[in-house]
Amino acid sequence: MAPHAIGIIGLGKIAQDQHLPNIRANPDFTLLAVSSQRGLSPEDAKYTFQDYREMLSGVPDLEAVAICTPPQVRHQIAREALLAGKSVLLEKPPAATLSELEDLKQLAEKVGKTIFTTWHAQYNKGVDETAKALAGQTVKLLRVTWKEDVRRWHPGQQWIWQAGGFGIFDPGINALSIVTRIMPQPVFIKRADLKFPANRDAPIAADLELSTGQPDAELTAAFDWRQTGLQSWNIDVETQAGSQLKLSQGGCRLEIDGRVVVDEKPSEYEGVYKRFDLLLSEGRSVVDVAPFRLVADAFMVGRRVQVEPFQDDAPARDGTYQAPST
Ligand code: NAP
Repeated sequence: MAPHAIGIIGLGKIAQDQHLPNIRANPDFTLLAVSSQRGLSPEDAKYTFQDYREMLSGVPDLEAVAICTPPQVRHQIAREALLAGKSVLLEKPPAATLSELEDLKQLAEKVGKTIFTTWHAQYNKGVDETAKALAGQTVKLLRVTWKEDVRRWHPGQQWIWQAGGFGIFDPGINALSIVTRIMPQPVFIKRADLKFPANRDAPIAADLELSTGQPDAELTAAFDWRQTGLQSWNIDVETQAGSQLKLSQGGCRLEIDGRVVVDEKPSEYEGVYKRFDLLLSEGRSVVDVAPFRLVADAFMVGRRVQVEPFQDDAPARDGTYQAPST
């Protein structure tokens, strides 16, 4: 079968860090076109545009697009792509609201194209192994600790602080996408404290209390963008049967009862593109709403707490970026 001819819309950090290299490395895809408002133009893309609409109408052989823009504009772009007969890969968060995502799901069904909510954090091996180990178990304790330095990972980025930019839920939704993937029971948001800097429209930190409906279970998530020094992307789980699981490094490392079961480099986007290939080949879609719904629920029941203004000394950027030194 010929490789899928794919285009990228929005050549920001994640498109450059992950989508371009993973498309190039995967023989089931060929990079046919890109659309970049700033006019970035990778040398191996056959066609380049500054307006994605011209790309959608001007490249009939384009089978699919990966939409790597901020979430606030994803719905409009995805709609137009589907109506132009293209299949769509949605970066996370897949839209700005639940109703936008529902609209895309229905439209994809109507036009008979593939739509894929990627949730990249679900694709590390440790996540898979955790889901397997927890299948059929009852969870007694779940503790999510997702704390990172926003100045280090998002210097000068503006959209994350705007309404609909998700704030701390931009990384927090990755943790919740792992939670919904590994938990053997459905989880619900019971309480949320959302900490908004006085000068911003999106939260910088959030403390969540979750539930499975099991009365003695303790489930919490602590998200914070003010963490300097050691960065934490950890999920600890204890089952009623007494097993202790430690999923760390964003899902790359797993210990079960003190024994290291997985310790691997991140392979998230390799997995994302393998799955997209399969979906395109089989003409299927995946619309996983679960992590998105938890974030929406946190905003719905959340108590708003005002905290210190957040000052970012990095120059405001329009999508160009310097990769942080790790
Ligand atoms: P970014 O660096 O700000 O890049 C977004 C790019 O989208 C911009 O550089 C711009 O590229 C394009 N864009 C901006 N506004 C647009 C608009 N109104 N219409 C069309 N295109 C627009 O952001 P990012 O960090 O790559 O994040 C993009 C998405 O990927 C977010 O949803 C984020 O949650 C997700 N994500 C990010 C990471 C990460 O590590 N940063 C990891 C996983 C997922 P052009 O000028 O080239 O058009």
